[in-house]
Amino acid sequence: MFKPVLGIIGGGQLGSMLAQAAKKLDIRTVIYCDDENAPAQHFSDEFVFGKYDNFNKLKEFCYKVDIITYEFENIPYETLQNLNNEKKVNPCPNINKIIQNRLFEKDFINKCNLRTTKYVHIKNQKDLQASDEYVPGLLKTCTLGYDGKGQYKIENSDQLSNFEIETDKEYILEKFINLKTEISVVLTRYGHQKCSIYEPIENKHEEQILRYSEIPAKIQSDILDKSKEWASILAEELDYIGTMCVEFFIDRNDNLYVNEIAPRVHNSGHLTINAYNVSQFENHIRAVCGMEKIKLIKFFDAKMINLIGKDINLYKGKKLNENEYFYDYLKKDIKSNRKMGHLTILKK
Ligand code: AMP
Repeated sequence: MFKPVLGIIGGGQLGSMLAQAAKKLDIRTVIYCDDENAPAQHFSDEFVFGKYDNFNKLKEFCYKVDIITYEFENIPYETLQNLNNEKKVNPCPNINKIIQNRLFEKDFINKCNLRTTKYVHIKNQKDLQASDEYVPGLLKTCTLGYDGKGQYKIENSDQLSNFEIETDKEYILEKFINLKTEISVVLTRYGHQKCSIYEPIENKHEEQILRYSEIPAKIQSDILDKSKEWASILAEELDYIGTMCVEFFIDRNDNLYVNEIAPRVHNSGHLTINAYNVSQFENHIRAVCGMEKIKLIKFFDAKMINLIGKDINLYKGKKLNENEYFYDYLKKDIKSNRKMGHLTILKK
């Protein structure tokens, strides 16, 4: 069978894990990243260093590969579109265009008749002042926010009047909901009605950063079923190819809300590496490279702990139990809110 050379844009831990999964399938990988020290270069067959708007470098990368995918969603749309004119980019750049912008993303989810939190588009100070009904809420930049970056709590009307928005940015103000818990559904879509869905994962965030992920989620089974159904509806509507993740909120009245869609492999799905026969990474490679879909088998329940900042030092060189798996992302510098590695504990 023809094995394509796979180009991966982005060289962080997700790129590393994708490259490792590709190696297992005997697929060559070329990583493209704007960070000279990108950890994923240790796992890929080739590495091209260049900015995401350096079209000469991107062309060089493009010549080396047959298919292109990416490990993060904030690649300029124009870059993905240009690449897509030369080589197939999976998932399709149009999907990325919707998901890169919180407003477009939420509008899209509502168009699919699925519930989100209440939100309003904020373009200027006047819009903000007229948005009392969304308080208490979170003001989020429409683009380029993750792990709580670009997010501001607005607790009351005074804060609403005093908050100074940046004139070159657009925002949404999202009504705060009383969270019972959060879950995510990771799935891999191979084509029309051809999905491989992992069981919903329960997630705990601290300071808006994912801290723990666990299966099984301790949630009523009808809500879990609904989350899987909603995630598949979104994947079908997007005509998605590859692994994606849908993050959900569950409020104290057991209402389910779609929070956001990640058009890529996802942090909460790391436990699939050890808990399932096929990980989210292998599934992504299989789908984007047109390989066969394999039936998912869960071997064990599991818990994943993100090692953030200095947490990593506690595990380097530590003797692990036989049900524990430690992953060091090999990042050069430790930073306080940076994901440095993770630990998966199988519940054997
Ligand atoms: P986000 O980047 O939008 O996924 O937000 C990061 C985290 O902040 C979420 O996983 C929640 O823990 C929390 N959060 C975001 N939006 C809301 C909301 N409208 N109500 C309650 N918690 C929220």
